[in-house]
Amino acid sequence: MPSIAQVEPMTTARALRGPFDYRLPEELRGGAVDVGSMLVVPFGRREVLGVVVGLADSSDVAAGKLLAPLRALELGVPAEMVALAGWIAEEYCSTLARALTLVLPPGATRRLSGRRRRDVAPARQLPVGARAPQPHALNADQEAALASVRAALATGEVHERLLHGVTGSGKTEVYLRAAEAALSHGRGVIVLVPEIALTPQTVGRFVERFGDTVAVLHSQLRGAARYAEWRRLREGRARICVGPRSAVFAPIEHVGLIVIDEEHESSYKHEGDPRYDARDVAAERARRSDAVLLIGSATPRAESARLPASRLPRRVDGRPLPPVDVLDMRGEDHGLHPRTAQALADVRDARGKAIVLLNRRGWSNFLSCRSCGLVWSCPHCDVALVLHRGGGFVACHHCGHREPAPERCRECGSISVARHGAGTERLQHELTSVLDSGDFPIFRLDADVTAAVAAGAGERNGRRPASTGASDPDGVAGALLRAFEGAESGVLIGTQMVAKGHDFPDVTLGVVLDADATLRFPDFRAEERTFSLIAQLAGRVGRGRDGRVLAQTIAPQARAIAHAARHDSDGFLAGELERRRALDYPPFSHLIRVVCSAEESTRARDAATAIRGLLALAPPADGAGSVLGPASLFRLRGRERESLVVKAAQRRPAVRAVGEAVSRVAAAREHQGVHFSVDVDPQ
Ligand code: ADP
Ligand code: ZN
Ligand code: ZN
Repeated sequence: MPSIAQVEPMTTARALRGPFDYRLPEELRGGAVDVGSMLVVPFGRREVLGVVVGLADSSDVAAGKLLAPLRALELGVPAEMVALAGWIAEEYCSTLARALTLVLPPGATRRLSGRRRRDVAPARQLPVGARAPQPHALNADQEAALASVRAALATGEVHERLLHGVTGSGKTEVYLRAAEAALSHGRGVIVLVPEIALTPQTVGRFVERFGDTVAVLHSQLRGAARYAEWRRLREGRARICVGPRSAVFAPIEHVGLIVIDEEHESSYKHEGDPRYDARDVAAERARRSDAVLLIGSATPRAESARLPASRLPRRVDGRPLPPVDVLDMRGEDHGLHPRTAQALADVRDARGKAIVLLNRRGWSNFLSCRSCGLVWSCPHCDVALVLHRGGGFVACHHCGHREPAPERCRECGSISVARHGAGTERLQHELTSVLDSGDFPIFRLDADVTAAVAAGAGERNGRRPASTGASDPDGVAGALLRAFEGAESGVLIGTQMVAKGHDFPDVTLGVVLDADATLRFPDFRAEERTFSLIAQLAGRVGRGRDGRVLAQTIAPQARAIAHAARHDSDGFLAGELERRRALDYPPFSHLIRVVCSAEESTRARDAATAIRGLLALAPPADGAGSVLGPASLFRLRGRERESLVVKAAQRRPAVRAVGEAVSRVAAAREHQGVHFSVDVDPQ
């Protein structure tokens, strides 16, 4: 009977790596403690939470020196999640302790007491668009998609499948039936959605269909309520987990199906350490438990194009996708093209609804002095400050720095301050003054609105019902969407939040302003993002009645825009794959980005150069890799940054080589004070 527990202490220090051996007292042997159990252990002079990662009969440590755990906590994680955490630590160049924090019950590292918690029933809001509680009869395309999932579940083999269905083609109904099939085989289900707040309809349909079998891990669920949902899953009382990226760690045993809805969404990538990608973790988890991975999108990523695909080429209501007109803005001096202005006025006169996307928050992008040319910029970052007129401040969208909106130039004293560009706040103001004479509300949805309303600051926002009862950002977004849905007519404007999977049957006009804005990012995914943004917005339009889309741009010939206007995702993907192959970008290679930051730019650059030097000595993946950089990034939060990008044919050896090079440079005296971040598959 194993008497030694190998325990990984939950400390975030990178230098400290377990596991460490502890002697199990009699009462904790023989099954009471297993891989995945949580123990409180003496560690130096502290008590820390530790996770059992292995059991053994003997230890290299002398028996007299072995310590015993202080106590065991009642409910640990399944053993398979410990193994998955090990994989994540390796794959994303992190530590096991950090990876384990992802799979532990909510709040575990903060609460060491292990006292019993009361089960709290999580609050459930009425889902947006809860119109059809009873299942639809599937159409032939849906049937075919479901059949392949059923077949894989029946054989119990790993299976990855892409559900490539146009917007409104009924992908969710396929997920629901697939989940039903998995349950009937005694298997658990994980459904990943980009953001709960922006996908309340998908969540609502699962809750409606499966009731208490579903646990929803809302990001707004906190403390006891969140733990209660986790516990229902851990104890098998709930067998389906719906949630954002972290739900991929749901403590479900015997997972048979993992669904990733809207797989193209960048929110699946986690930006903290470990910088995991929930899509890759889901694929690994599915492989480990012989489960089916079903990933759905109308605009799949180039990475997903390699999978066998089921297609839903038509909308369920038989309506065509709305025609998209590209409006050339070269030579236009007003923000709205005359045809856009006319189309919005027509919607108002017809008492209809429209959605307008402008992927830029605030009032003006930047301010400058008309006399001396001073541009207001962030004291901590090399970026311009954005004016938020309603709040009376200018803000940095990178570090959060704020200062009062200037009344005069601090250099020359001039009171003539020019405002450049327009964001959602200004757009709301202008559309309200042009269109709304009292009964045509202009709703705004962006991060400022959700944050301000949540904080009680109450930035004016259309005629939102006075009390939505929501006090957190997620709840605010949901309440706004419900208000727009419930309104008789009006316009919803906002950042990319307005283009997510909402299903409103009465929107007849979609407008994308500055459609090429996302193209100008220096990022190899810029084209894919632009294509998907336009296609997804078009997806919100013309469900239930005829509709159309207008895309304003100064780059009407751009490939992403032209393909989106034709709803040609196959053509776009084919071109994109060709381009990626020519440039040796993912999915034809793996990228690893290392960012070195320091207060002085020379120190950041020296560290990056040193890493580059080490990588040249031990080229990742047998010389198949290449290193780009160092290249300077803009100063952020008072730190100068230099980045290296490693391109490699094979991921594991490259991750290892980069990890070793970074550790060596980080440990060197001359690079003290430099921060390092390693991002595998940066987004
Ligand atoms: P997608 O996720 O592909 O954009 P949805 O799953 O939101 O599409 O489906 C759009 C609408 O069609 C939903 O209201 C859904 O209930 C309905 N629906 C799904 N399948 C069918 C079907 N076979 N027949 C009729 N309506 C359906
Ligand atoms: Zn000035
Ligand atoms: Zn800043």
